[in-house]
Amino acid sequence: MASRRDFLTAFRKPLEKVTEKEELIVRPPYGLEESLFQSECVVCESKACVSSCEEEIVLIRADGTPMLNFSKKGCTFCEACAEACEPDVLSLNNIHTSETINARFIISTEACVAHNDVICFSCKEPCIDDAILFNGLFNPVIDMNLCTGCGFCQSRCPTNAISYEATQIKQKEAM
Ligand code: SF4
Ligand code: SF4
Ligand code: SF4
Repeated sequence: MASRRDFLTAFRKPLEKVTEKEELIVRPPYGLEESLFQSECVVCESKACVSSCEEEIVLIRADGTPMLNFSKKGCTFCEACAEACEPDVLSLNNIHTSETINARFIISTEACVAHNDVICFSCKEPCIDDAILFNGLFNPVIDMNLCTGCGFCQSRCPTNAISYEATQIKQKEAM
């Protein structure tokens, strides 16, 4: 017969699974994998990724690891953070993550004025990858295949209609 402990354990397991779910963070580009941010960045004293970024979009979280903040600017993929990172968490050898950031951007159709009959191209102009597709003058959507996650569009939107969420660090197909 199942003991009281077995009974409680059976209930506890699903809860543990939920709390153990990995928190996804938007990392600087040129990273190979998330585990290196967890093992190397927490003991990195220089935090050279922060000081090397002229756009000032790299912040250090409470756990000592870097994240990107697009509230004012975006990433130019200038390579400076990768060149400055001594433990090679960020490295130019990581060609598969060189010009891509692990963030997925979306445009809210409720908040975007161009989805509500008002002409606005504020997000299109800073997107050098031409990833924001308009249907004529209206209804912009972000093409996930073209978007690098650079973040420049977000702060340009006058109605804060562009948001993003972190994704798993993806390896691009080898060229
Ligand atoms: S310089 Fe490199 S190792 Fe140090 S915090 Fe930045 S990314 Fe991590
Ligand atoms: S590639 Fe350049 S702009 Fe982008 S996070 Fe690194 S230092 Fe900043
Ligand atoms: S749509 Fe993507 S590539 Fe274009 S500016 Fe926004 S984040 Fe950058």
